[in-house]
Parts: sequence; C-alpha cells; structure tokens
Amino acid sequence: MREFDAIVIGVGGMGSATVYHLARRGQQVLGLEQFDIAHDLGSSHGVTRIIRMAYPEGAGYVPLLRRAYELWHDLETRAGERLLYVTGCVDAGAPDSATVRGSLETCRQFGLEHQALDARALHEKFPGYRLPDGMVAVLQPDGGFLLPERCIIHYVKAAQNLGTEIHTRERVMGWDSSRGGVEVRTEHEAYRARRLVITAGPWASQLCPLLQKLAIAERQVVLWAQPPRPELFQPGAFPVFNLEAPEGRFYGCPVYAVPGFKIGKYHHRRENVDPARVDREIHPEDEAVLRQGIRRYFPDADGPALAMKTCMFTNSPDEHFIIDALPGGDAYPETENVYIAAGFSGHGFKFASVVGEIMTDLALDGGARYSDQLSMFRLARFYGTAE
Ligand SMILES: Cc1cc2nc3c(=O)[nH]c(=O)nc-3n(C[C@H](O)[C@H](O)[C@H](O)COP(=O)(O)OP(=O)(O)OC[C@H]3O[C@@H](n4cnc5c(N)ncnc54)[C@H](O)[C@@H]3O)c2cc1C
Repeated sequence: MREFDAIVIGVGGMGSATVYHLARRGQQVLGLEQFDIAHDLGSSHGVTRIIRMAYPEGAGYVPLLRRAYELWHDLETRAGERLLYVTGCVDAGAPDSATVRGSLETCRQFGLEHQALDARALHEKFPGYRLPDGMVAVLQPDGGFLLPERCIIHYVKAAQNLGTEIHTRERVMGWDSSRGGVEVRTEHEAYRARRLVITAGPWASQLCPLLQKLAIAERQVVLWAQPPRPELFQPGAFPVFNLEAPEGRFYGCPVYAVPGFKIGKYHHRRENVDPARVDREIHPEDEAVLRQGIRRYFPDADGPALAMKTCMFTNSPDEHFIIDALPGGDAYPETENVYIAAGFSGHGFKFASVVGEIMTDLALDGGARYSDQLSMFRLARFYGTAE
C-alpha cells in the first residue's frame, strides 16, 4: 500500500488550497477527487465568487479575511494571472437589518474604509442599483470577486510543482484511523497516511457520520441576465452586493466572462438535498425567485436569461464554518489524525486560501496560530461542551 504524509479527500475550493499549503510545509501529499479539477458538480463553480472585507456574519471573520486577501494575492503572483477583481462591495437593506448593522459594525471595529449611502445616493453613484427609499447601503471598497475555477486550478498546479499527487475521478469509499495513522479506500485502491484532511463540501457527512446533522447540503441556483443597459453592470460601474430584502438575501456580481449580470439568493428555495441526487435541472420556479430580485432592485438588468446553474451550499446549524480535528485521543482513537473543514454555509469560498493554511496548521501543529478564530468553528459548540 502506498504511503503519504497527508491525504486530502476532496480537491475543490478548500481541498485545492489545503494540498498546496501542506506541500509547502514539506508534506508528501495525495489529493483525491471524485470528479475533475474544477468541475461544476459541487460548490465552487460558476465563474465568480464574492469576496468582501466588511463582514456582517461576524467580526471574528475579519482577521481571517485579511489573511485570505494576502494569500489570494500570493497565488496570483505564483499563477501570473489575475484571480481577484476589486469592485467594491455594497451591503444593503433596511437601516436596522443584520446586514447593514453588521457591515457597519465590522467597518468601525476594524477601521475599514467605508461610506454609508441612502438608496438615492447609491443610485447616483452606481445607476444599476435602484433600491427603494428607506433602504440604505454600506459601500466598502475592498470587496470584489474571485474566479473560483481558476483559483482551484492554480492551487493544484502549485501543489503539483511541489510534488503533490492529485488523483481525479477516484471516489473515496471510506477510511479508518488509529494511533498509527490513517488508511483511505477509494474505488480503485487503498492508501496510508499519517494524517487525513476531509474537505468534501456537500459530501462531508457521507465521509464523516459525525456531521450528519451538522453539514447539510442545499440546492442553489444562480442566474445571469442579459442587461438591456449593459454599461451599468460592468465591473468599474457596479460593485458586488449583498442585499437583505423582504424577499430574502440576494447577492450578485457585475458582468464578467458570461455577458450577464449574475444574481443568486441565499437558501434559494430551501431545498435540502442528498448531493448524489440533487436536481440539476432548472425549473421556471427557480428563475421566478431570482427575477423577483432583478425586477425590484436592478430593473435595468431585467433581460433574457443567458445562463442558469445549480450549485450546493453545505449548511451548519449556525451557518458558521466547521473547522476542527475530530475528537481522537483515548476516547475516540478511531478518529485520531483526522481533520475536517465543512459546513461553509454559502459564504466559504473567499476564505479558501486561508482555510488551506489553517488546515495545514491544524494537522501539523494543532492550529495554535489561529486558535482565537478557530474557537468559533469548533465542533464542540454543537454539543454545548466548553473548550
Ligand atoms: C451558488 C453559490 C454561490 C456562492 N457564492 C459565494 C460567494 O459569492 N462568496 C463566497 O465566499 N462563497 C460563496 N459560496 C460558497 C462557497 O462557494 C463554498 O463555501 C465553497 O466553495 C465550498 O468549498 P468546498 O471545498 O467545501 O466544496 P467543493 O468545492 O464542492 O469541494 C468538495 C470536493 O470534494 C469532492 N469530494 C466529495 N466527496 C468525495 C469523495 N468521496 N471522494 C473524492 N472526492 C470527493 C467533491 O467532488 C468536490 O470537488 C457560494 C456557493 C454557491 C453554491
């Protein structure tokens, strides 16, 4: 049986960064991926992913975002390719909405440059936005978007340059762990390693039963609409957005690659799914959900659909990430040396660069460097166990 220092199951957003960071620390790494390197069957496809610095989801994310930006720029340098486009980010909603309040709070707490605008001022600055009177916006200039498929490809390339083996179209069927190390069985072969990192996205709970009620896959749909006024939705003229509206929370990006304005809605139609059986067809009800957002808030983008795609979130109960070592120790020797990154709850991609670094630190040194941030991602929070 072939032996490695570390095996990573799932080479998508988080796994591609993890194989790279492990390899950079001198580990002999095997990355196992059931599909292709960059594919459209998981959570990390669809051309663009928003990255933003003001973070209504919690102030604890901001230090990680600072590091994530640094690491994305580092990857751009290695790749010789632009992977992060800065457009500014608009967090909008009612003045007392969690999105607006949370965005302002993190801007103030961390001294982030920002501007508070009412709906009219936002429209004057960026005419593609037509929010109703009464809504307000926080404009934070560091926001923008990443190119997820290109990020994954470049992390894999960089890891391969450091000697990492990547096996695609090789599904992991199961693993066993003990004090001595880990054995991983795929549909083709079995491998041994000193440590195992599971970054399996929507499939995480299938590989780690502990996550069955903690990392739940949910079907999502995004739409690219051909704007009748395309000039209003170009990257220089239209910041990415995160809009808390009465209908739900919409997000979107300016025109990039696909010549359309991209919009999605968090939790789309609230369809929890088995990732192996997710419905990848697009239905009229899917378009209706997103059209509502376009017509009401971005009417100058209300043209024909150019593309629609399904994707999956993996939700944790509190929508914060799950990043931890499995319990291990004398009580659970069968999960010793196993580390998990899951439950990214629809907002994880922007962090993939730093998650790769965190998983490496966790697996090699117990994660001391990030211990402050990791406390909010520990599994134990779901069991009411004090750390
Ligand atoms: C529509 C949509 C829009 C989003 N927008 C944003 C955004 O704007 N900004 C943002 O930050 N985040 C966003 N997110 C969330 C973000 O994309 C995810 O949090 C992130 O991509 C999750 O990465 P992952 O590595 O966990 O999953 P994935 O990238 O899906 O990777 C998991 C990998 O594991 C592989 N795998 C699983 N099981 C096995 C097995 N048994 N054997 C081998 N391989 C296996 C899978 O094939 C897959 O490649 C969005 C998500 C969706 C769906």
